[in-house]
Order: sequence, then C-alpha cells, then structure tokens
Amino acid sequence: MNPFWSQTARQLSPYVPGEQPRIADLVKLNTNESPFGPSPRALEAMQAAAADTLRLYPDPEATELREVLAAHHGVKPEQVFVGNGSDEVIAHAFAALLNQPRPLLYPDVTYSFYPVWAQLFGIACETVPLDGDMHVRVEDYRREAGAIVIANPNAPTGVALPRAEIARLLADHPDIPVLIDEAYVDFGGESAVPLVADHPNLLVVQTMSKSRGLAGLRVGYAIGDAGLIEALRRVKDSFNSYPLGRIAQAGATASVRDDAYFRETCGRIVAGREAMTRGLSRLGFAVLPSHANFVFAAHPARGGLELAAALRERAVLVRHFNRPRTAPYLRITVGTEDDTARLIAALEAILA
Ligand SMILES: *Cc1c(COP(=O)(O)O)cnc(C)c1O
Repeated sequence: MNPFWSQTARQLSPYVPGEQPRIADLVKLNTNESPFGPSPRALEAMQAAAADTLRLYPDPEATELREVLAAHHGVKPEQVFVGNGSDEVIAHAFAALLNQPRPLLYPDVTYSFYPVWAQLFGIACETVPLDGDMHVRVEDYRREAGAIVIANPNAPTGVALPRAEIARLLADHPDIPVLIDEAYVDFGGESAVPLVADHPNLLVVQTMSKSRGLAGLRVGYAIGDAGLIEALRRVKDSFNSYPLGRIAQAGATASVRDDAYFRETCGRIVAGREAMTRGLSRLGFAVLPSHANFVFAAHPARGGLELAAALRERAVLVRHFNRPRTAPYLRITVGTEDDTARLIAALEAILA
C-alpha cells in the first residue's frame, strides 16, 4: 500500500467499468452503448460550441438544458438537476439524500456501483433478493429503511417494473427518499416521472449515455421535487460548480430538441433486441424479458464465464458478472443487425 494514501483511498473498492479495448474489427456488446451516433443536430451544435467562447466558464446551472429537459418531461426547470453523467448525479444523491440513519435498501442483483457509493459515503445498506424469476417484488421492501434505490428497468437483468408497482412502493414509503434509476427507460419501460408531482420523496434519474448515443459526452440528470433538487445542488456546489462544459450543454440541449431522431433510434434498438432474443432462444438460451438495450441470457449447458471467454476469442465482447446469481448469464448489448448476426454465428460455432 502506498504510504501517501488517505484512510479514504485505502478503504475503497472501486467500481470496475466494462473494458474499452483496442481490438481490430471488434463486436463491442459489453457496455450498453448505442450502435447509432448522437443526433446529427447535436453534433452540429457541439461543433458550433467549439469556439473562442470556450475561454469563458460555462453556465454553472445549465439553464437552457434544464429548460428543454423540463419541457420534454412536463416539469418545471427547478425540478431538474444535471450532472457529468448520471453516475455523478446518483453519487450526489447518495450524499445528499440516501445517506440516512437507517439502512439503504436495493436489490441483491442490480447496478454494481450502488455498493461502491455506499462505501464511499459510509452508508449502511441491506440488499433485498430478487424473486426466483429475477424480478423486483416491491412488497419485499416493507421493512425498516432509511432510503431505497431501484434501477428500473433493472441492470443487468433488463427486467422492468410497471409504473403502478413503483406507485405501490411509494405508497409503502412516503417518509424516506426513493431513487429510481431509469438509465434504460427509453427502450420500452414506464417512467416514474409522472409520479413526481404527488411524491416529494421521489427522485428519478436518467442519462443521455444509452438512448441518446452520448456516452462519451457525459450528461445525466435527475427529476424530482424542487426540495430534493436543492439538496443535489448543495452537494454539487460543494464539489464542482461546473460539471458540464459548454460543448456538453450545447450537445445535450440539441439532442433533446431532436425528438424524431431519438424516437427512431430507440425504435430500431427495440426491434434489434427482439431479433437478438429470437436468435438466442433458437440456440437454447433462456432470455429474461428485457425492456433495456441489452438482454440477459443463460445457456442450460454452458456457463457464462466460459461463453464470454469463447466469444472474446472470436472478437465478440459481452459482459459477465461473476457473482453467484449472475454467473450463468451473459449481458449482451443490442448493437446493429450485423453485430447480432456475428454474435449468433460465433455462439453457433462455440456451441457446436
Ligand atoms: C449506464 C448506467 C448508469 C450511468 O450512466 P452514465 O453514463 O454515468 O450516465 C447509471 N445507472 C445504470 C443502471 C446504468 O446502467
């Protein structure tokens, strides 16, 4: 251990992101990026923002971006918070809202960044097991809790809860903060944003990384009661007042304004998911019902670790999570039609 590390640095066990390797002709289906680029209008806006004005600090409140997001979601600008990727927004929410005297609850199988933030901020947690079908059962959250975080659709399963189930969860927990992480909601899930009006304890977090093809820009946002948003702003302004640069604000704003491109590309990814599901089912995989831009699939005869390694040898990258409940599965991002064809051909060869 390096002698100059603080106690904080020593005690961390950081999140491990999916690889970004440099392999020629790779089929990259491991980090849930979009196979389609950002909106051409977003690219134009970013090119225009790459100008002399970059010598000036950006708007610390990202006012225009928050206004277009508010209009898009039917809320007020003071109900919108933006950050450098939704990872940063969620991290601020852990500090500002989810750090309570009683434990934070989340599913046993979910986004593996949640325990990392809990550790960073010293938050006590309890995991709530998914049921046998890998679904979240909201009645299992009827226990003593300081806060709840649920990804919906969940990751890495892709399984979604209907809005009515989130409403039931909120009815059970009117007095604690509830964060719904909607990183994948644009691929057919039901957003909890309409519930924000009646629930001052609900924070909904979304990202431009997956459905808007802007993972490289780093823009995420939260929608909630203005009181919750104020807590996020207090943390942000105690950490980094300018999380989004001028180029990011311009690109994200133009992306939200280009609704036609957004709907078209999301629709193509949903169609690609159905095709991938059919192809995997034909090869004998059990595929969980996905509302995300990835599928979670297990083969009855071959383990996930083995299949992921064999695919990697054929330059097809997928994600495997080597924990007891997830070990049989592969998490496979929906790419282009050509990506799916190469994935299926590689699996056919491996299983033969
Ligand atoms: C991808 C992802 C995020 C983070 O996305 P950003 O790129 O930081 O906006 C958050 N939550 C879940 C469940 C994700 O899969």
